[in-house]
This record gives sequence, C-alpha cells and structure tokens, in this order.
Amino acid sequence: MRVVLRPGAAVTAVPAEVERLGLRRVLVVSGRRGAEAARMVADALGEACAGLHAEARMHVPAEVADRAVEVARAAGADGCVVVGGGSAIGLGKVIALRTGLPLLAVPSTYSGSEMTPVWGLTEHGAKRTGRDPRVLPRTVVYDPELTLSLPVPLSVTSGVNAIAHAAEALYAPDASPLVSLMAEEGVRAMAGALPALTAAPRDLDARALALHGAWLCGAALGATTMGLHHKLCHVLGGTFGLPHAETHTAVLPYALAHNAPAAPEAMAALGRALGTDDVPGALWDLAAPRSLARLGLAEADVAEAARAATRQAYPNPRQITVAGVTDVLRAAYDGDRPRTDPR
Ligand code: NAD
Repeated sequence: MRVVLRPGAAVTAVPAEVERLGLRRVLVVSGRRGAEAARMVADALGEACAGLHAEARMHVPAEVADRAVEVARAAGADGCVVVGGGSAIGLGKVIALRTGLPLLAVPSTYSGSEMTPVWGLTEHGAKRTGRDPRVLPRTVVYDPELTLSLPVPLSVTSGVNAIAHAAEALYAPDASPLVSLMAEEGVRAMAGALPALTAAPRDLDARALALHGAWLCGAALGATTMGLHHKLCHVLGGTFGLPHAETHTAVLPYALAHNAPAAPEAMAALGRALGTDDVPGALWDLAAPRSLARLGLAEADVAEAARAATRQAYPNPRQITVAGVTDVLRAAYDGDRPRTDPR
C-alpha cells in the first residue's frame, strides 16, 4: 500500500491519490463529528467526489453499514475515501468488504486501523471481526493538520492505544524481526510525540511524529496476532461498553506487568524505546493514570470480565488463567502504580 504523510495532505494529496488509482466517483465517508474535515476533502476532490456520507458510528452497527453500502451503490461510487478515527475507518472497511470498492483512508486519530486487514461489525449486540485483504486501504494519507483538533486527553489515550498494538506485536507468536523493528520504532516515536504534543498541541512536528508512530504500530498490529491485553480491551469495550482508547490506556501497564516475566525480549525492546527499566511504570507515567473504576466499570463486573476473557483460547506469552486475568483486571480497576510480577 502507498502511504503519504505531510501537513496539508488531506487536501493536497487525496485528489492525486484518487486519480492514481484511476477513480472518478468516490464516496467520502466520515462520522458526524468529522464531517467538517470530510467536507474539506470532498471539496478538494471536486468532480471526483460522488457524495459525502457522514453517518459513521462507534463499533460499526449493522444498520449503519447497510445504509452506507446502499448510499455507495446509489451514488454509483467507484471507490471510497474514509476520513476519521477507527470508527469511521471501520465503516469504510465494511463498505469495501461488501462492495469490493477500493478504499483510501485519511486517519484523524492514532488507532492504526488503517494499517490492518481486520474489519468489525456489530449485530444483535455482538461485535464480529474478520480478516480480509479487500478492507486494507490502497492508500493511506496521514495529515498532521487534521489531528490538530484532536483534544490532548484523546491524543494521549489514542497514542497509548497505538503503543499497545506494538507491545503485543513484540511478543506475538507470529512476530518477526522486521515487524519487531517497526514496533519498537513505533513506540519510540509515539512516546516522544505524546509529551511534546501535550506541551504544545498545535506543534505540527509533534503531530507528524505521532502519526509516524501510529503508522508503524498499526502495521505491527496488522502483521501479528494480539494477546491478553487486546482480549481484555475487546471484552471491556464489547460487553461492558467502556470507551476504546481510554480502556487501552487503563489496562496496558497491568497487562504488561503480568506478561513481563514471560516476554523478556519484548520488554527489553519496549524498555529501549521508552528509555526505562520499568516499562509498566513508564507507561503509567506517560498517560494520566485512569482506573477502570473511573471509566465506569462496576467492581462486581471484574469477575465476569475475567471469565469472559478466558473463555476462548488465544496466544499469550504467559498462560491464561482466571486467577491471573482477575489479578490484572483488579489492578487496572484500582489504577495504582503497577508492579512487575516477579512470578
Ligand atoms: P473513534 O474513531 O471512535 O474516535 C473517537 C472520538 O474522537 C470520536 O468522537 C471522533 O468523532 C473524535 N475524533 C476523531 N478524530 C478527531 C479529530 N482529529 N479531532 C477531534 N475529534 C476527533 O475512536 P478511535 O480510538 O480512533 O477508534 C476506535 C475504534 O476503532 C474501535 O471501534 C476499535 O475497535 C476500532 N479499531 C479497529 C482496528 C482494526 O484493526 N480493525 C484497530 C484499532 C481500532
């Protein structure tokens, strides 16, 4: 896939990339809050834009996907340009999956979804996910200017969401030397960018560095199989309705503290990237600490979430047990400074 990263690229590069793919009538898709940015992209496309559909919602509800597919077909679209965070990109992916239309992505958060062939769809209250090469964008256009409006707290949690992809890619069963290099560099970039953009949210260099990190972390996610941390966040988001990026931020230090004794090489890489011997502690320091309790999880739900996260097998460096997972969730629920499990 092609990647363009430069300030202003949403307006200056998208039309050229659409043309390069030979497309003449693309549907621009976004969420409601992202409609203004999407309108800018649509205007820049001029005649090559077949319409703007600003109806994306979190977790891609089936009826939202059905409607978007209908709109794409009715407009006679020959491609789809999605502008927004992971939720909007998720809708673009399902349009691509159902219609076979080529997808271009213009990400406005650091979720990394644009770099993966993974799609998700929520039907009857349950989110199904799958892998299909058709949903991988042909071109990704990263524009730091588009992320200037991302509030600092959301920038930080979204950045830690990206770091979580890289962290689990480093100890994935299908890790490889090249992907591990991308993951380590992605964490280094993101960990450098987050304090810089917190101090100066409109600093384009810091915003560009964060997108560079999101790109590498997302690519590492797309190439590997995730473990305990992502499983926990999937359960907490899907079954208990907790917010995506904030939940990743609240869980990651404790999931890594738990897995650390069984994943020394991954922890060494993360330590190099973060410049620390105490990876869970450094991640806890990086993001304003938030506990699962503050995100709205009820104490009684810790046990149910632990059972849900152990029901199906998935790869993880440390064996998955109900007791172990309960300890991780309990610690994330309290939100105190993590201690690496000495086992
Ligand atoms: P999101 O897309 O829901 O965005 C969060 C909020 O930020 C929304 O209200 C959105 O309108 C707003 N927003 C986005 N960009 C903004 C900007 N530049 N300025 C101001 N506000 C902005 O959240 P997300 O964290 O980007 O994505 C989460 C979703 O993506 C989840 O459903 C998750 O499952 C999915 N995801 C999928 C993959 C994959 O590989 N398939 C990877 C990561 C995340």
